[in-house]
Amino acid sequence: MHIATDGIVIKERPIGEKDKVITILTRTEGIIEAIARGVRNTKSRLLSGVSLFTYSDFSIYKGKTNFIIDSAEEKTSFYGVSAALEKTALCFYFSSVCISLSPSGEESEAFLRLFLNSLYLLEKDLKDISLVKAVFELKVAEYGGFSPSLTACSVCGVYEDNKMFLNLRSGELFCDSHKRGMGEIPLSKKVLTAFRFVYFNEIERAFGFQLDSLSLRQFSSAAEMYLLAQTNEKFKTLDFFKSITGKYDG
Ligand SMILES: [Zn+2]
Repeated sequence: MHIATDGIVIKERPIGEKDKVITILTRTEGIIEAIARGVRNTKSRLLSGVSLFTYSDFSIYKGKTNFIIDSAEEKTSFYGVSAALEKTALCFYFSSVCISLSPSGEESEAFLRLFLNSLYLLEKDLKDISLVKAVFELKVAEYGGFSPSLTACSVCGVYEDNKMFLNLRSGELFCDSHKRGMGEIPLSKKVLTAFRFVYFNEIERAFGFQLDSLSLRQFSSAAEMYLLAQTNEKFKTLDFFKSITGKYDG
């Protein structure tokens, strides 16, 4: 079997003396783990195309037990991300989440576009890092099948209240009168508007808004709590990111 697809290298580890195992988030086949032979030799023709956080055109074949990289042509490398520890740590977290939520063996274009857009914004410093993180978390939850119901209060259908409440498990929204008081987080008008903006826009537009610093903190915290509650997972890479940014409280 032979696969030709574009994708981004989201994880790597050495194997043997000269090889690496790379995890690629591909457009057509979701997550693929493949062996890149001889790439720890600096003269390898594969070297640039299989580097971490590099977006490449891959040719991959299936050996008896493993996928093996035949060729990898670099399209874009996000050096600016690799050069800043905080950004690198955030991308490791993005990688863990995609490995957990992206399909294997089927198309995964939405995840790939999300990853590439996030990397681009981080690389160019176009958006606050906590905004990029939060939008990534909400979009990846959506693509993983965990979209909240943000249209209106689940009980009375009211669209807006001074505060609305998001149930982290069910993804339902409640107004102040109908909140249950358990497992819910309050969303201010600004934060709810940001949530809706992210969910009601395609990824290329979903980062296109701004928040004041207090609302951004609340938005960022709510997005993270929502993703973690929905996936019911703990990500060590998230703890690592927080230890670097000084936000680690675990
Ligand atoms: Zn209500």
